[in-house]
Amino acid sequence: MTYFVDHLKKNIHRTRYAGDDCGFLQTPIEKREFTNSTAFVKQLEEQELYERCPHCQSVKMLVNND
Ligand SMILES: [Zn+2]
Repeated sequence: MTYFVDHLKKNIHRTRYAGDDCGFLQTPIEKREFTNSTAFVKQLEEQELYERCPHCQSVKMLVNND
């Protein structure tokens, strides 16, 4: 599993599922980081209060039906 860390918004994406909904398009390249280290991601979550992006944690579900 590869993670995509947005250091600007403090979001953690899963590279495989990341898409337009994730809101990282305006994050500059130098604020983006790719990692496959679960320990690193966990550390960011617990110590830096990064949040896992809700848009790419699993296969997309149809939630916007209105
Ligand atoms: Zn995302």
